[in-house]
Order: sequence, then C-alpha cells, then structure tokens
Amino acid sequence: MNIHEFQAKDILRAEGVPIPAGEIATTPEQAEAIAKKFGGMVVVKAQVHAGGRGKAGGVKLAKTPEEAKEVAGKILGMQIKGLTVYTVLVTAVADIATEAYVGIILDRATRKPVFMVSPAGGIDIEEVAATTPEKILKMPIDTRYGLQPYQASELGFFLFDDIKKVRQASKIMMSLYQAFMKNGASLAEINPLVVTPAGEVLALDAKISIDDNELDRHPELEALRDETAEEPSEVDARNSHLTFIKLEGDVGCVVNGAGLAMATMDLVKYYGGEPANFLDIGGSSNPEKVVNALRIITADPSVKAILFNIFGGITRTDDVANGIVTATKANPLTIPIVIRLTGTNEEIALKILADNGFSASSDMDEAVQKAVALAKGGKAA
Ligand code: GDP
Ligand code: MN
Repeated sequence: MNIHEFQAKDILRAEGVPIPAGEIATTPEQAEAIAKKFGGMVVVKAQVHAGGRGKAGGVKLAKTPEEAKEVAGKILGMQIKGLTVYTVLVTAVADIATEAYVGIILDRATRKPVFMVSPAGGIDIEEVAATTPEKILKMPIDTRYGLQPYQASELGFFLFDDIKKVRQASKIMMSLYQAFMKNGASLAEINPLVVTPAGEVLALDAKISIDDNELDRHPELEALRDETAEEPSEVDARNSHLTFIKLEGDVGCVVNGAGLAMATMDLVKYYGGEPANFLDIGGSSNPEKVVNALRIITADPSVKAILFNIFGGITRTDDVANGIVTATKANPLTIPIVIRLTGTNEEIALKILADNGFSASSDMDEAVQKAVALAKGGKAA
C-alpha cells in the first residue's frame, strides 16, 4: 500500500527526522490560509501516489499567500501519471545548497533491507542510477542486529565530508531504519535529503510503501489508505476479497490460485498476447466471487477478451460455471469469453455452461491461444 508524502513525513517526524512544517489543503483558500500562517514563502506539493511530481509541474514555490492560492488552484485537479490531485501539501520553504538521496528497499535477493544512498539526489536519481551507478552506495542490513552506528556513519560519510553533516545524516539513517522496520515498509525513501546554506540537513520529500501483508497487524496504517488515490478496479477487487492487479494488456484473466494465475499470464505472453490483469478468485467455492471478478474485468475498456482458467480442487467448477451464468445474465457480455475448466464437478459444470450457450474446453494451451486470438480481433483458431 502506498501512502502520501504528508503521511510518510508524519511517520518520519515521529522518529525524529527533521522536516519543515507542513499542512494539507483541498482548496486554494485553505492553501492561502496555511501560507499566511507560515508567514513567508511556501512550497505547494501535489499529493498523489507517483514520483516525478516536480517534473510534472506538481511542486511549485509560492512567494506570497495569494500566490499559494493561485498555485494550489492550478495543482488541485491536475493529472499526474493518470492520477488526479485532490490534496496539496503546503510546506514552509527550505533553502537548498545540495540534494542527496537516501532510501531503503526490501531486497528479495538478499532477503534484507538494503540502504541506497547517493550524494547526487534530487529529481534525476533514476538517471544517476542508470549512468553513474558508482555514485550510489548499497548496504544490506542484517535485521538481527539492525543498523549499527558504524554503518550509519559509513552511509553518512558517503554523502558528506563535513563531520557535522555526517552526524546529522547518520542520525537520520537510524530514524529512517526504525520507521522502515516498525511500519512493515517495503520501501522508505527521502529524496531530496537537502543541506541548507546554513549546514542543516533536512528531509524535503518522503515516500513510504507498506507491505500489504503487514496491514492486519497495523490498523493505524490501514487507516492511512486513500482509496481516491488508488486504481478504482483494485479498490473494488480488494473490497470483494479478490487478489487483483491491473496490468497493461487486453486479455482479462480469471483464475483460481496464484500459481495458476502466474502460469496463465506466462502462457498468454508465450502465445503473443498481453494479460490485462492478475486475478485470483481464491480456493473457495463461491459463485459471488466470479460475479465480482467479471464485473471488475468488464469495467476495464482495454479488455478485449476474457479467459477463465479454473483448475477444480477445493474450488468446484460447477460453482464457477454458475457464477459465469449469473453474472452474464445480469450483465450480458459485449466481448468474447473463453472458458477452460477441469477438475472437481467438471461434468456438471460443462452441462451448466452448454445449457446456457457457452462452450468450454479442458485444454489450457488451446484456451489461451483462442483468447489471445480473440483479443487481437481475430477468429479463434
Ligand atoms: P518529486 O518530484 O515528486 O520527487 O517531488 P519533490 O518533493 O522531491 O520535489 C521536487 C523538487 O522540488 C526537489 O528535488 C527540490 O529541488 C524542489 N523542492 C521541494 N521542496 C523544496 C523547498 O522547500 N525549497 C526549494 N528550494 N526547493 C524545493
Ligand atoms: Mn522527490
């Protein structure tokens, strides 16, 4: 789960990271009032779950409260990477001498949190990673011992020469690590970590992603969820207890089991297609899940064909067949559907489908090829 910059900053502030004061606004007038309160220049920042806001025009300096109102009016309602801005953060401005990058990600290869720091931070960090990787220090952390002070110093010295700045940076590394571990994060990032002309080290931006599996034991983090900032189909799927991830392709996949869902997506690609989603209806026998799955998939205009791939075990294929019939009676399909099912109650399922005008096969390769061809607007092989 992604959270907004202002929420990530609250978490980091609580761990002692120095961050300029800020408040959120949903109208230009509120932004103006906050700017008045801060009594000077402010930065108005779009709150969306996307990076690169600066380059997209979603981060703007305002010299007066009137200007803050004007700028907020422009940023609110703006689209950044397909996401609408409903909230801005109005924050006291900081003078910048240099910008560094500090981040922790959970690295699956080493199965450790890995610090990544670079003195060349700011809005071009991706460029730095691609062209001058030697400017980035990576340090895996053993979670049995946590970040040790000598490691925090090493990270600090990679960023700065001056001991005063190194000390401030090292302290911030310790706080960032605490925030990362306490909150079950999969990513925690400060970019830029700036040095002011007076030599103060401050975090001006923050990004934290929470591992979804941690949310059950962190209701206070689940409460930070902003559904208006999330992909609508993913919100619907979560509320319907389906595991769903929207992808870029046009073959809508409904599958039971995560492993089979992965194998199905692989096969769609193998036969030259692109999956429109990952969707796991789970192992239970519940026609309602099928109805919800079809609703979510058909709501996506980029889906050109639907592929059901069900391996009946605990999941009864007749339940899935009933779900398909119920869902399509209520909302007749306007795109082709290909059904592959095999396993528990297969005979009954095939009869239910045949009685309702659907054909189904038990061959996975055949079904996937057919769905890929139909999505391309061609005839089924
Ligand atoms: P991002 O583009 O989504 O990563 O948004 P950031 O919050 O990182 O802002 C982008 C850039 O705006 C930063 O790298 C800074 O150069 C600049 N910026 C952000 N806040 C301030 C500030 O308080 N003062 C100044 N001078 N620049 C800022
Ligand atoms: Mn940033």
